[in-house]
Parts: sequence; structure tokens; C-alpha cells
Amino acid sequence: MPTPLITEIQRFCLQDGPGIRTTIFLKGCPLHCPWCHNPENISSKQEFYFYANKCTGCRQCQAACSSGTGNMDHDCMEKTSDRRLCTSCLQCVSACRFGARETVGKSIPMENILLEAGSDRIFYEVSGGGVTISGGEPLMFPEFTCDLARSLKVKENLHVAVETCLLAEWHNIAPLLEYVDLFIVDIKSLDPEKHQRVTGGSLQKILSNLERLLEAKAAVRIHLPIIPHFNDSSEDFETYAVYLGHFAGNLSGVDILPFHSYAAGKYIQLGRSYQYQKVPDLAVQQLAPLVQALEQQGIREITIGGMVGASAAAENGVANRALEARRGHLPPVHLPQKKGVVPTRH
Ligand code: SF4
Ligand code: SF4
Repeated sequence: MPTPLITEIQRFCLQDGPGIRTTIFLKGCPLHCPWCHNPENISSKQEFYFYANKCTGCRQCQAACSSGTGNMDHDCMEKTSDRRLCTSCLQCVSACRFGARETVGKSIPMENILLEAGSDRIFYEVSGGGVTISGGEPLMFPEFTCDLARSLKVKENLHVAVETCLLAEWHNIAPLLEYVDLFIVDIKSLDPEKHQRVTGGSLQKILSNLERLLEAKAAVRIHLPIIPHFNDSSEDFETYAVYLGHFAGNLSGVDILPFHSYAAGKYIQLGRSYQYQKVPDLAVQQLAPLVQALEQQGIREITIGGMVGASAAAENGVANRALEARRGHLPPVHLPQKKGVVPTRH
């Protein structure tokens, strides 16, 4: 079975399902959303981060590079590096003695994943939390994801959530019904042509799988990433509300995730271009019409940023704090992690 690389096992997450959670990020996604907040999880292959602020210009990396990449216009002192010829051999990472290069994506044995995921059991118990399998796209690795969910549920007796875009064959989703307590489903757009053109995936398949999940009485929470000039028009909001309104009684809730550009640094570190570099973050107020439209369709559990209800937020400003935490999608609460067990993020 194809085993995914893991980019991070992030503890004390507050936005990836109920309670305090540990989120496991699998590397690899069938979509290529240009605003992706986790660009390190798009490719399923190993990559490296380059940290310009740590680079001394010693050029040991170039000497180690076997592909010729090191001798081209790739200049370590530049903030970005040309990786067109890069073969991901990672010799440059080994050669760098200054920590200016870091491998992205590691193979972690299942028993270590379970050990790490189970280590915060006490926090899950007091907060109603658990473990979320995310990515990337967990369903790109259906057997691994099912094995992991089964172990977390049956062996560890933990609450299990899977964060997914549902772009998969149903026969790879159905086995998860037995072990997954909550499906968190990302819907990027309800315009089939735009969805295919911009993200590279079939909306029809995603919605078909969503409807089958709901028919199967699975607990489903919808994530709506709202992206400027992609799905933030009043027509987009109305379309979301009308479609999701058909399932108002069956959905566990809807989390609105406003665009932010906090991933810009990761694009640079990965040597990629980022077309949203100069796009301003969406303000919470811009999402009020969407919240209202969803409420009018009978959807009650609506949050902004995945933590608190937008209605309550309007009164006490909590949504802004939730949004700030979400922007961190960097650990919202970052307690010390065990060194050497998981790759650190950023
Ligand atoms: S080996 Fe490391 S410090 Fe030296 S030039 Fe390359 S990235 Fe910079
Ligand atoms: S990972 Fe890419 S840049 Fe680094 S040594 Fe290998 S081919 Fe060269």
C-alpha cells in the first residue's frame, strides 16, 4: 500500500474538529488550489525548505548537488531558488551545516504516529477532542488512512476526524464510515467549470461523495475556504447557502475559513511562486452576508475560523481572536514537542 510522507504531527490544534486535537498532515493532494495554505502538502514527494536568513553563502549545497541545479542560476543567497532541475535528492540538505535547508516530508512508522497521537489523551478527554487526519488529501492514501483511522478508533479508542476534499472513489471512502467520527469536507466552489479549471478536480465527484456520506448518516462538517475573486461574490454565497440548505438538518455545521496570506513565506521557502502575495486578507465583516444566507437556510452551527459561532462573535469579538488563531495555522497553542519525533513546521 502506498504510504504517505508526513509533514507534521501538530499537537494542541483547536480548529481541526471539536476540542483539543492532534492533527496529522499527510503529504500529497490531487488538487492544486493556488491559494493553498499548506503548499508543502500538495506534492506527495519530499522537498526542502530553504531559510534565507540562516544561509551563510558557503555554497556547500551547490557542491553537493548532483543534478546541475547547484551550478545554475540557483543562488543560495537569493530568497527563492530555481528548482526546475531539482531531483529532490536532498544532498544539499545533508551538506548544509547551518540549518538553512530542511527536509519537508518524512516517513514515520505507524507505531510512532499512534504513540504521538495518543500522548495527549488526557487533553482529548477533558476537551472532547481527538485526532484529525488531514493533508494534503488523506484519501490519496486510502488504505493507509483507513488503517490509521482503525487503529486510532479501535486500539486507542480516540475520536477520529478526517479532513478531506472527497475527491476519491466511493469504494475508498466507504470503509472509513466504521472508524471515523467526523468528516470535515472542504468545498472550494459550487461552479463545476471554475472548480475544475482552478483546482484541477471534479466537483461532481466531490458532491456525489458528500451526498453519499450524508445518506450513510455520517457526521459531516463543511469547511468553506473563502478566497477573494474566486468564491467571495454574493452569488457564490447564495449558491453555497441554497445547496447546503438542502442538508441543513444533517450537517454537523459549517466553518467559514477566510483567506489569509500567512502561507506566503512557505511558498518562498519551497521555491514556488505565490499568486496571492499581494491579495489582502478577508475581514470577518465581509463574511457576514454568507453567515446570514446560511442561517436563513436553517444552518445553525456556523463558525468563522472553525472555533466559535459568528453570531456570538459579533457581540464579543471572539471571531476575530479565532481568526487570528486560524491565521496562525501555525500552532494556535504551541506547547513543547518531543524533539526528533516529528518534523517541525516552518
Ligand atoms: S550549504 Fe547552507 S549555508 Fe551554505 S550556501 Fe548552501 S544553504 Fe547556504
Ligand atoms: S535536492 Fe535538488 S537542489 Fe538539493 S542537491 Fe538534490 S537536486 Fe540539488
